[in-house]
Amino acid sequence: MLFRYCCGLLALLLSLPLSAQPLFDSHLHYSAEDARHFDPLAIVQWLDKNMIPYAAVTGTPAVHVSKLYQAVPERIVPLLSIYRQRRDKSTWTKDETVIPYLKKELERGHWGGIGELHLFAADRHSQVFKEVIALASARQLPLLIHADPAVIDKLYEIAPKQRVIWAHASTFPYPDLVADYLQRYPHLSVDVSMRDRRIAPDGVIDDDWYELFVMYPDRFMIGVDTYSTSRWRSFDFAVRAIRHWLAQLPEDVAQQLAFVNAAKFYKKPLSLKANTSF
Ligand SMILES: [Zn+2]
Repeated sequence: MLFRYCCGLLALLLSLPLSAQPLFDSHLHYSAEDARHFDPLAIVQWLDKNMIPYAAVTGTPAVHVSKLYQAVPERIVPLLSIYRQRRDKSTWTKDETVIPYLKKELERGHWGGIGELHLFAADRHSQVFKEVIALASARQLPLLIHADPAVIDKLYEIAPKQRVIWAHASTFPYPDLVADYLQRYPHLSVDVSMRDRRIAPDGVIDDDWYELFVMYPDRFMIGVDTYSTSRWRSFDFAVRAIRHWLAQLPEDVAQQLAFVNAAKFYKKPLSLKANTSF
């Protein structure tokens, strides 16, 4: 039986202890191998069990994310993967067939963003990357990007207003560097998925990360990043680790990272409907 959300306004929810507060997971994968083991209902049950009313989900190939979205459209932000198969991850920047594929998929109309794109500094001049940025900008879709800092510089040279989520707080996840980029690029947001051990070594939040979150409380999002089927199997544990360091932040900052920032970014309601059974 699915979890029943019986709370009213967000204010009410936010008065709950953080361990009981809703999370917006901004970085999930639901790919072919995951779909072989877990149907959309199993995924929704995981989200319910962990009080995650909303999630942004990508996957390869895209069809599985579409199915998950169709099962609970109000709860899933489907992100269009540019990979049709796993190996595309390392070749897509040179693959011109990506663009007609994306155009065709985007015609379906339900996609809430494009990504996750993986690329290194050396790939930043890729013509395919340029065209992906143009597609996203024209449709006002955000990009989820796992990339080196130089890629972000290149992207904002091309499209200064493009909304971007920089996955895992960059490939160089140092608070000073992240702060510099947040200051430079107002349309850049950061997800800190898979960075729990850096943020809170031995479970205690690091001073530099603490200051970074307090300085830019409206620019960060959390996520589990289910990059493999085994990651899905340890989903509950991963969520607990995130909640553990969130609870060490000032309450209002923690609420922004946990839920509010992603809800605003993806235009989801900040309040959960009374007596809604998802
Ligand atoms: Zn990922």
